[in-house]
Amino acid sequence: MLLFKSVELLQNFLQKKRKEGLRIGFAPTMGALHRGHASLIKKAKLENDICVCSIFVNPTQFNDPKDLEKYPRTEGEDIKILVDLENEVLFYPTVDAVYPKDLQIPTFDFGQVDKVMEGKFRPGHFDGVVEVVYRLVDIVQPDRLYMGQKDFQQFTLIQHMLQQMQAKTKLVVCPIIREPDGLALSSRNVRLTPENRERAPSIAKILQQLNDWIANGLSIKEAETKAIAELSKMPDFRPEYLEIVDGHTLQPIEKMEASDYVVVCTAVWTGDIRLIDNVILKGNKRN
Ligand code: AMP
Repeated sequence: MLLFKSVELLQNFLQKKRKEGLRIGFAPTMGALHRGHASLIKKAKLENDICVCSIFVNPTQFNDPKDLEKYPRTEGEDIKILVDLENEVLFYPTVDAVYPKDLQIPTFDFGQVDKVMEGKFRPGHFDGVVEVVYRLVDIVQPDRLYMGQKDFQQFTLIQHMLQQMQAKTKLVVCPIIREPDGLALSSRNVRLTPENRERAPSIAKILQQLNDWIANGLSIKEAETKAIAELSKMPDFRPEYLEIVDGHTLQPIEKMEASDYVVVCTAVWTGDIRLIDNVILKGNKRN
């Protein structure tokens, strides 16, 4: 595996490969790699000639400085995982390399998509996400960009961004990889206390029950309220939001029939750790 810290050297290398006709897949990450990240890299390797994985803990997307400070950093283990996956290129830039002083990022119009859910509860978060993904995509210029369904609102925004850029890059969304007990893999899971780790799979279980509750007669609003009540019953778990939304617009819906693509998204605090998860309830099923 080749490791680049320099934007210029990476671009020179990729330029050469592009001229040879090789297709480039790109999986941006913040490190502390797990099987979720690995699934993106495996798919990128299958569908392209070269996979570029980036590891960059982007300071501009952390609305909470404590979260940034505590974000797990496991450089040595990450490199070993990438070598074992036979990943071709690791881009491991510094903050100054990603954000040079004269950098200009265009503004994009996301309508209401970035105002709800994560956008509402993590002010500024998506500005940072869009900024970093724009910059990284501009550096790597991949044929395909690999992102996880785990961050549903994030990939939806990036899809809008790529459309507005009229980018040649195609977004590939990969299914959520879960632990055998159902907990969605996340770099933050390692910080859960043993008790909360044991309780955490209930989040996915509750999301997966929503279809049954609705089929048995609950309205969308009632099903949301019941799910929030179930989550709140767990000691030390505090749901921040749980919303059943249209999977295209991310706006709330009143009836399942109102959309061909329905997803439930939630964010739940446990101690000082914030877990997010989602389940597609209708249409376009990825998992
Ligand atoms: P992160 O390092 O958390 O910024 O995530 C990097 C990429 O990996 C994002 O596109 C995430 O959506 C994706 N990802 C994170 N967790 C999972 C998971 N459990 N399953 C699939 N993809 C994931």
